[in-house]
Amino acid sequence: MAQDAYALATQPGGMSFIVNPLDRCAERRGDSDWLARLMAQPDARFVVATAGKLVLRTGVAGMRHTLAQAQALGQDGAETAFLGLEPTGAPLFACTSTLTEDDLEIRDGLEVVDLRSLALRRDLAEADIGALAQARALAHWHLSHRFCSRCGAKTQMAEAGYRRDCPSCQAQHFPRTDPVVIMLITHGDKVLLGRPPRLAEGVYTTLAGFMEPGETVEDAVRRETYEESRIRVGAVDIVLNQPWPFPANLMLGCRGVAVSTDIEIGQDELEACHWYSRAEVETMLAGTHPDGHRIPPGISIAHHLILGWLKETAA
Ligand SMILES: [Zn+2]
Repeated sequence: MAQDAYALATQPGGMSFIVNPLDRCAERRGDSDWLARLMAQPDARFVVATAGKLVLRTGVAGMRHTLAQAQALGQDGAETAFLGLEPTGAPLFACTSTLTEDDLEIRDGLEVVDLRSLALRRDLAEADIGALAQARALAHWHLSHRFCSRCGAKTQMAEAGYRRDCPSCQAQHFPRTDPVVIMLITHGDKVLLGRPPRLAEGVYTTLAGFMEPGETVEDAVRRETYEESRIRVGAVDIVLNQPWPFPANLMLGCRGVAVSTDIEIGQDELEACHWYSRAEVETMLAGTHPDGHRIPPGISIAHHLILGWLKETAA
């Protein structure tokens, strides 16, 4: 039942953030001489991030800035992380800017844009979107972990950006990835889709929620589905996964089989939730649903969980 993630990303309208060809060279991150040599290479390039956005140069160079260009954009030298070697062998780094988004936005030839908008535009290669997802998630973690969670002292970047060290209590801190279960729940030939209030008008999607400590993926699917819809779920399979760097989630795409059908939505999570037939979901995909209901865009795992089910039941 597992879906082929690479095929999903490379087809038109494919899922975003799942193709990242960078060689992260994790085994060499502790070698500061090697990193310093890479950073000084003329072909080294830098992705520049602000608190919530990415700084691109308009035109073909796009997201890749030279060291001099990154410095002119307020590169914080102590906050520069190594993303990896590109397929060409050129090193790619990510840094945060000390300038504000307002300062950067008024400069000619620059675009300050959030990653979700960039992914939706589809004018960068998916491999670049994947590298930007890595840069965005790392930048968010560094910007929000400047101080030690144990003793409150200022921390320093280490291991090429994959650790922060506290010089006061010697604690080591590692980048977080927060797993989220997202599940397509079926009952016979129907699928359960709900509407969290934050979504664009008319969009209905698969239910989702954060995993909790000490919980399996399967139990998280059952708990979250019951919490949001009061539907009981039996068998669960993990079918697909996707990094979702908003700010640092990993979406665990699942399929679950409902063992009850009466929906009752909770107070906070959903404003609506329905069982949809296959014919109805086809109209949502085609944009012809009589009430204007539609499914999320192709960059998201929800779209591909729904599409996978539609194709399977059509067979
Ligand atoms: Zn500390």
